[in-house]
Amino acid sequence: MEKIDFEKIVENLQEIVVAVDYDNKILYANKAFCSLFNTNCENLNGKGLYDFIPEGKDTVLIKDYTYKITKKNDEYCSYFFLNIIDSEMEKVYSDFISTVSHELRTPLTSIRGFADTMLMSFDKLDETQIKKFLSIIKDQSNRLIKLVENLLSISKIQVQQTNLVYKSVNVKSQIEQAIFVLKNQYPNHPFELKIEDDVLPILVDENKFQQVMINLLDNAAKYSYEKGSVTVRVANSKMHNMENFVSIKVEDHGVGIEPENMTKIFEKFARIENHLTRKTQGSGLGLYIVKSLVEKMGGKIFVQSSTVLPNSGSTFEVLFPAATYTSQSIKAMEDK
Ligand code: ADP
Repeated sequence: MEKIDFEKIVENLQEIVVAVDYDNKILYANKAFCSLFNTNCENLNGKGLYDFIPEGKDTVLIKDYTYKITKKNDEYCSYFFLNIIDSEMEKVYSDFISTVSHELRTPLTSIRGFADTMLMSFDKLDETQIKKFLSIIKDQSNRLIKLVENLLSISKIQVQQTNLVYKSVNVKSQIEQAIFVLKNQYPNHPFELKIEDDVLPILVDENKFQQVMINLLDNAAKYSYEKGSVTVRVANSKMHNMENFVSIKVEDHGVGIEPENMTKIFEKFARIENHLTRKTQGSGLGLYIVKSLVEKMGGKIFVQSSTVLPNSGSTFEVLFPAATYTSQSIKAMEDK
């Protein structure tokens, strides 16, 4: 058998390897090390390891990647290995897996549990108990459907495949429809619609508009205390440069959002810790989808919130183009 050339193997490894003497002077570094640090391997001999990586640390951040540093001691020298442990993509991916598996497993476990109980003890249960168990099964199935719909929405958004069908829409009846859905889901929260008389029809995709409103109303109730009211205010926009838009504000008196999280809430899978997020269900996809859809329909979204008082609450405002100013806007949107 031919002699194995270990040096050649190490030289071409993707893993980053560097060997140092007991004064931490570099004796050898492989190609991956030199290319990571943009340095010439020929000139490394005698240079200090800590000119490249921090002393006494287990990890180092280089060009947006975090590397884990592992050290192995030999009789004559020490070897250091650097391996990527975290990249933005990996983080997004692992967040995705953990959110989705939690969001799938929790309702499925509960559906199976209640179905099992009913099958095994059907004769011992009274009508009220059976109704209660069936309504839990229904709620949990709805939760699964919502997750699947959200996941389908984000995959479509990502491949830019959301096909929108624009038409002139009456804001009042659309919002009443969304409120009707939410009232069923949150019977303890009063929902109120305050709409000015002369509100213009808007130019949107009806289904996507419903999806936006339902997500915002759902959050408003979900992140409010028991019986917390939710108000929707609709008016023609008076905002500078947005006079041809209709403004829809969803106001709650819930936990509010800290200033440092105001942009983070719109990121994919972002759930902000508050004492209600732990109790409530969610995948962190709602606002990402809302913002993407609103912007795709030529609108804008703003948020105002405070956590100063226990129920200062939040206001999410979405603005959509009025249908009247539209032959140009339809064209502009179709071109998008
Ligand atoms: P989810 O509700 O599934 O967690 P969202 O994308 O809809 O995901 O919201 C992201 C985060 O923004 C939530 O986890 C919550 O912390 C915060 N949030 C959203 N709406 C509100 C609101 N009305 N009041 C307070 N916090 C909110």
